[in-house]
Amino acid sequence: MDDRNKESQETSERFYDLIREAEAKSYETCECCGQPGRLARRGGRGWYKTLCPACSVKMNFEFVGSEE
Ligand SMILES: [Zn+2]
Repeated sequence: MDDRNKESQETSERFYDLIREAEAKSYETCECCGQPGRLARRGGRGWYKTLCPACSVKMNFEFVGSEE
């Protein structure tokens, strides 16, 4: 019984690790193709997406935070 409790505790810790990992990845993964990407913006409409360079060009998005 004790072993079971320990196992489920470890499972939930692993589960939270996965969530944290997925949240971190969502900032770096292209929403279109899943390649590594960065936050990009389109036009003056304040529309933000995380895209890789290829998709940002295709969709007319510009990367933000690199203007300086
Ligand atoms: Zn892409």
